[in-house]
Amino acid sequence: MAMQTLTNRSKVVSNKKMTLWEKIYLPAIVKGLSITFFGHFFKRKVTFSYPDKQREFSPVYRGRHVLKRDDQGRERCTACGLCALACPAEAITIVAAERKPGEENLYREEKYAATYEINMLRCIFCGLCEEVCPKEAIFLTDQIVHSEYERPTFIYGKDKLVESVDNPVDVSKRQTKSVLEFKKNTGFAHNR
Ligand code: SF4
Ligand code: SF4
Repeated sequence: MAMQTLTNRSKVVSNKKMTLWEKIYLPAIVKGLSITFFGHFFKRKVTFSYPDKQREFSPVYRGRHVLKRDDQGRERCTACGLCALACPAEAITIVAAERKPGEENLYREEKYAATYEINMLRCIFCGLCEEVCPKEAIFLTDQIVHSEYERPTFIYGKDKLVESVDNPVDVSKRQTKSVLEFKKNTGFAHNR
C-alpha cells in the first residue's frame, strides 16, 4: 500500500536511465547560465561596495557603546552593576571606586567605575545594558566595532567607551519624546 503523504510536495523518485543528451550536461549548463545572465545580470544589485558605499543605518541601530557624561562633563556611571547583571553574554566587567573630595567635577555620583570594560567578542548588541541603566550612562551607538587582529584589542575599556568632553555622542534619536521631555524637568532628582 502506498504511504500517505502529509503535503502535496512529495515527488516520486525515478530511476530512469539518462539519455546521451542528458549525460553530456551541456544543455543543463547552458540553461543554468541563461538563468544567471538573463535572470540576474541586469537586476539591481542587492550588495554594496563596502567600504566605498555604506548602507544607511537605522537611528536605533545597536552598535558599539558609549559611556555618557552629563552637561557638566562628569561621568554619569555610578558603577551600580545593573548593566553587568542584565548582560546575557556576561560581557561587562566593572570595578567600583569611591569618589574622593575634589573629584566632584569628574564623577557625577559618589561611586564611579574605576574600571569599565566590555568584551566586544562576547557582546551580542542586545541593548539590555542601555535599557537597564538608571543613570542614562550607557548607550549603544550607530558606530560599528572595527575588525582587529588580536583578541585582547576587542576588550574596550574606559579609554574607548567614555565619550570625549569636546565631542559628545548624540543619543537623542535613541530616546522617545516622552523621555526627552522628562529630562528637561530639573525638578526631578534624576535630572540634576
Ligand atoms: S548590548 Fe547586550 S550583550 Fe552587549 S554588553 Fe550590553 S547587555 Fe551585554
Ligand atoms: S552603566 Fe548604568 S547600569 Fe551600568 S554600572 Fe553604570 S550606572 Fe549602573
